[in-house]
Amino acid sequence: MATVGDVTVHEGHWIGGERGGSAAVFDDVSPIDGQVIAQVARGGAAEAEAAVTAAEKAFPAWARTSREERAALLHAIADGVEKRLERLAIVETTDNGALLRSHLRGVMPRVAHNFRFFADWLLKLGHDDFDTRGHRNHVSWDPAGVCALITPWNAPLMLATWKIAPALAAGNTVVLKPAEWSPLTASLLADITVEAGLPDGVFNVVQGYGEEAGAPLVADPRVRRIGFTGSVPTARHIAAAAAANLTPLSLELGGKSPLIVFADADLDLAVDLAVEQYDNAGQVCLAGTRLLVQEEIAAEFTERFVAKAGALRQGDPRDLATDIGPNVHREHFERVDGFVRRAIEAGATPVIGGGPNTDLGGLYYRPTLFTNVAPDSEIVNEEVFGPVLTLQTFRTEDEAVEMANSTRFGLAATLATGSPERAERVTGRLVAGTVWVNCFFVRDLRAPFGGSRQSGVGREGGDWSFDFYCDVKNTVFAPGGWNG
Ligand code: NAD
Repeated sequence: MATVGDVTVHEGHWIGGERGGSAAVFDDVSPIDGQVIAQVARGGAAEAEAAVTAAEKAFPAWARTSREERAALLHAIADGVEKRLERLAIVETTDNGALLRSHLRGVMPRVAHNFRFFADWLLKLGHDDFDTRGHRNHVSWDPAGVCALITPWNAPLMLATWKIAPALAAGNTVVLKPAEWSPLTASLLADITVEAGLPDGVFNVVQGYGEEAGAPLVADPRVRRIGFTGSVPTARHIAAAAAANLTPLSLELGGKSPLIVFADADLDLAVDLAVEQYDNAGQVCLAGTRLLVQEEIAAEFTERFVAKAGALRQGDPRDLATDIGPNVHREHFERVDGFVRRAIEAGATPVIGGGPNTDLGGLYYRPTLFTNVAPDSEIVNEEVFGPVLTLQTFRTEDEAVEMANSTRFGLAATLATGSPERAERVTGRLVAGTVWVNCFFVRDLRAPFGGSRQSGVGREGGDWSFDFYCDVKNTVFAPGGWNG
């Protein structure tokens, strides 16, 4: 057991309703101060195998429960999350360095909402029967089986529960492999499911590294769905494993999203939107990291951006006044720094930032904005996943669209314009799973969510989640042939 901010967290796996360890452990280090906060069980093939076995055993009974029973259990889990909101928030902040303020106000309430939303959606899920020459077609959403869910560290519990909730609601059983840099809230969630009365084996957690615990999990032929959120290189491994068993998979991957600012935009709003891209120290898949600004307003935009970004407070994420915390892990921090150094060597100009925050030390990286970036340069094309933005200018609407779409990603796009007609025209041409006009990060669980191109495969949210986590079945009843 570890104690994190006064909260006791189990460092083991949660398999078939039992806590268990592994022969080896790994250090879980807080990015706030580099302290080891837990020594977490380092699972491998044996633990993945045991978890799938437990989930498979629990599946038939769970799949037979009524929608109402499952919905009630999901609401009970949401109650448990709400009861522990502050404890979950402090553990998550200590573990991954994201702002306590965000966890308290937005992220953890959202975790509870994930369960409530999919519980309620389940009860409404349905399709009107339809007729084929007197035959009645009936569509049903049947549980699919064991779901392997693999999740990243940037919003650990929120991103995990956005998959766990619909998977469980659909009548599936789940094995979660959380990210090794932020493994703790998954363990707390296991406690919450016990209190809520979820039967043993319906929800399981295997801790460990991706290559050791995640890889055997997704390769298990008994797994019927793979839900993955993470990077493109890992997705390639997972897709290859899924291909061997033809396991359906949903991939939510990275991005290099544009934020397009037209000269007719409300400039204050546009600057606010741009500075918001530093949220979570830039570790947000949806971040609009490529600022595309119309030439005639670029100088003024940059001036106002620099003033606004300069007022951001960087520091301890547990301080509610902090705007930007540390990056998650030393390895990731070095990666971000590598991108920045190479951009400078390639001739880019850091208008602000351009290196670690040496006043604070540790893993605090200065919010950085680059200009003078070549369209084909690494900094414009690769996902940095840190507080690093680039600014490029464009002349015409066509040029803006072309630049926005000139990426192998397609997760999101943000547009600032004062013209509704322009918004209609441009949004129709952008390649992205989500487009925001004069706003950012408005996320509704009813909406489809996912990425185009290399930002993902498939969509989740609302019906799309149930379409993925279920075996959707059509049953045709003939009008005749009945006895009586
Ligand atoms: P990652 O791909 O390194 O790791 C994600 C998860 O995969 C971790 O749990 C890891 O242990 C596991 N993993 C690694 N190798 C594996 C393997 N061979 N088999 C099975 N599992 C394996 O990603 P990350 O660094 O944790 O997260 C950052 C990435 O996630 C960024 O690219 C970001 O854009 C993306 N992301 C996307 C979304 C989205 O909704 N589209 C949301 C958040 C993050």
